[in-house]
Amino acid sequence: MTSVGTTTPSNPPRLLIVGGGAAGCLVAIQVLRRARGPLLIEVAEPRPRLAEGVAYATGDPAHVLNVPAGRMSALPEQPDDFRRWAGSDASAFLPRGRYAQYLRDVLAQAIADAPPQVTFRHRQDRVLSLRARTGGGFTAVLPHRFRRDVDVVILATGYDGPGSPGDAVDDARSRPDCGDLIVDDVWAARDTSARAPSTTSQASPEGPRELIAIGTGLTFVDQAATHLGRAPENTIIGISRHGWLPHAHRGHHGEPPPFTATSDTEVGDMVTFLRGLGDKWQDGVDALRPHIQTIWRQSTDEQRQRFLTENGAWWSVHRHRMAPEVAERLRSWQSEGRLQIVRGAVSEVSRSGSRVVVTTTGGQVISGDALLNCTGRDGRPRRGLAAELLTRGLATSGPMGWGLGVDLPSLRVRRSATEAHTSLYAIGPLVLGELFETTAIPEIRAQAALIAEAVCSALSPVTPA
Ligand SMILES: Cc1cc2nc3c(=O)[nH]c(=O)nc-3n(C[C@H](O)[C@H](O)[C@H](O)COP(=O)(O)OP(=O)(O)OC[C@H]3O[C@@H](n4cnc5c(N)ncnc54)[C@H](O)[C@@H]3O)c2cc1C
Repeated sequence: MTSVGTTTPSNPPRLLIVGGGAAGCLVAIQVLRRARGPLLIEVAEPRPRLAEGVAYATGDPAHVLNVPAGRMSALPEQPDDFRRWAGSDASAFLPRGRYAQYLRDVLAQAIADAPPQVTFRHRQDRVLSLRARTGGGFTAVLPHRFRRDVDVVILATGYDGPGSPGDAVDDARSRPDCGDLIVDDVWAARDTSARAPSTTSQASPEGPRELIAIGTGLTFVDQAATHLGRAPENTIIGISRHGWLPHAHRGHHGEPPPFTATSDTEVGDMVTFLRGLGDKWQDGVDALRPHIQTIWRQSTDEQRQRFLTENGAWWSVHRHRMAPEVAERLRSWQSEGRLQIVRGAVSEVSRSGSRVVVTTTGGQVISGDALLNCTGRDGRPRRGLAAELLTRGLATSGPMGWGLGVDLPSLRVRRSATEAHTSLYAIGPLVLGELFETTAIPEIRAQAALIAEAVCSALSPVTPA
């Protein structure tokens, strides 16, 4: 850990948190609650409001949490905190936009309660790069050639962008005849129905009516809810290889069945266990939860790859479930014929007038007003700060090429297979390769507490009287 030497209130140690989404806020909250000596905490986040990021920057009340309120507390030691804040049942699935407000409230309280020598700032900037400083710490490179020297950096930049929907769509996206009919980053577009491609807006002033989506997971569920909720004549067709929608949460029906992990248990065994439980598999997910990261870590790359290839989609629809009321709404749209699921892959994308035409490997030809990439986020750093650190040799990739390699359990970023930085940490989706299940709040808040403990004992110990 960086030695910070003697500090004065005008020259306090500096902590930079890069990214002010859920993970950045959770770690800021934990640092504020622990800091005792002088400390400047800066969160670099280009968005005007903290705590939103990709998941919670939605004002659509149809976009609800996929974890019940009782498990969404920001504070590991007060598991009921979010439910109490919201005044809801522990089993309620609340709008995600409310969750961002909750995080901001917890952050504001932590700022108010922090000792006077602890300062918090939101710096509305993107960090372009980091340079290691001789003697410890980093220089953060910001836009307009602005530079900032800091003692410790916590990377909380989340996923880097959408996953690839396959060669046929990637190719069409770069072609001038189709590019304007394809929405690649539905998170950035957020409100896809309102963001009609230019030609479609001319054909239909209210925006696209008939959407086609690639991928039928939780990203698709969000898009369907917004689009179908907007106008009764709107329709959406989702295409995926397996044709599965996520399962719905069923609530607790009984004690989780016993599950014991040994040092030989590998990722594929988790699927065998769940399948063996028949219709009790939902309780099995709870039994597995405390073991998933350990099992992932002790599995070989070959076992992980086999699990992803053979059972990745199956795992995803069973592990990442949707709220029961959302599932009910989807079922009724399906029965009305407004939502359809097509099984297959996309083999060709072309244009006919103002419409996009998709041909599947099963030979179906589907046309719509726009094509959405709903394949979810890509774990491989491709263009943001994490990718930049990899290119410059300041970090290594995580297992499977996902996220960054980190030392465990400290979460310090590895600069080589054998050495980790002493003052650079990563949290949340950035450690996907190392921990696999690391993107939901219950996991991120535990990581936040762990990093904050280390950072505060190094940078902000109690000042001697
Ligand atoms: C649609 C969706 C729904 C989800 N629902 C739930 C749920 O119900 N319950 C649950 O527990 N989990 C849920 N999750 C998972 C989870 O909470 C998220 O993955 C979480 O958003 C991760 O937070 P993050 O801060 O790491 O990343 P992000 O939310 O992506 O935030 C990263 C932030 O970093 C900023 N940033 C990026 N690069 C830079 C840079 N170079 N400089 C400065 N800032 C930068 C970005 O602007 C962004 O605001 C959901 C995820 C998604 C995508």
